[in-house]
Amino acid sequence: LREAAGGRVVRYDASLECELRQRATLAADLRRALTDGEFHLLYQPVVALPGGELDGVESLVRWRRPTGEVVSPADFIPVAEDTGLIVELGAWILDTACARAATWPGLRSVAVNVSARQLLDPALPDVVAAALSRHGVPPSRLTIEITETAVFGGGRALATVKALSALGVSIALDDFGTGHSSLGLLRTCPVDAIKVDKSFVDGLGGTPEQEAIVTALTGIAETMGLRTVAEGVETAEQARRLHQLGYRHAQGFHFARPLPAEAIDDLLRQRQPA
Ligand code: C2E
Ligand code: CA
Ligand code: CA
Ligand code: CA
Repeated sequence: LREAAGGRVVRYDASLECELRQRATLAADLRRALTDGEFHLLYQPVVALPGGELDGVESLVRWRRPTGEVVSPADFIPVAEDTGLIVELGAWILDTACARAATWPGLRSVAVNVSARQLLDPALPDVVAAALSRHGVPPSRLTIEITETAVFGGGRALATVKALSALGVSIALDDFGTGHSSLGLLRTCPVDAIKVDKSFVDGLGGTPEQEAIVTALTGIAETMGLRTVAEGVETAEQARRLHQLGYRHAQGFHFARPLPAEAIDDLLRQRQPA
């Protein structure tokens, strides 16, 4: 037990110290991983309903440690954000995704996730423009996925999104409906697409209220001329119901998992037989 400043007795938290040390190690490992080329991208198909035709892909980063262990982005993206390494890693992700997009001219769009920290970097629009021109990809074929929490405060993040939109890239609001101001944001932020969060898709077949929300989300989007993608579709029944409720695009394990680039090559070859 230790005496806290105010005289209060608090328990010494060994687990917190352990966690902090693990985080510091992870941060150092991440920096080395970038130099050593331990990251790669997977691409998850976005498909048209009801047929499931390939429409686009979302790039999702993976980290394979030298031990062979694959670390989930949910575990390392937050650390990369805190340390600022996300700026460098994010530039690599954008460049890699644009290089692939150039080899997939038949694919309408390639999406890249951009984190809150990246949107605070005023250089981001230049980084995106450089990646597009380096690989000869038209801006309209790149979608930048942002979360509403990242732009909620307005300010610099919103200014960056406006600059990205002015480049001609599509802006998609990720995890739509889970934040505090989903609808309000559609008025202030330039948005081309919304990605309706998996939690709403999971609610299909539940109460009528749950289905009403799913219907309303695509209704609003459609009225505003936005594309809607339903995320996390895991069953044929969910896909069928989404189509009935007016959804035209979906993404999820029911259609395809995140795949290596070569598997997308194969899908495109199958779609357009020589
Ligand atoms: P997200 O952008 O919402 O990505 C969707 C996540 O849901 C992905 O997890 C994907 O594999 C998973 N998913 C797709 N379909 C299904 C489904 O039918 N069922 C279930 N249960 N899950 C599904 P992943 O790849 O582990 O990525 C997690 C999060 O990490 C992403 O959420 C995103 O926030 C972040 N992330 C991933 N790649 C990047 C990146 O390149 N840059 C940045 N900044 N963040 C990334
Ligand atoms: Ca996303
Ligand atoms: Ca999402
Ligand atoms: Ca998410």
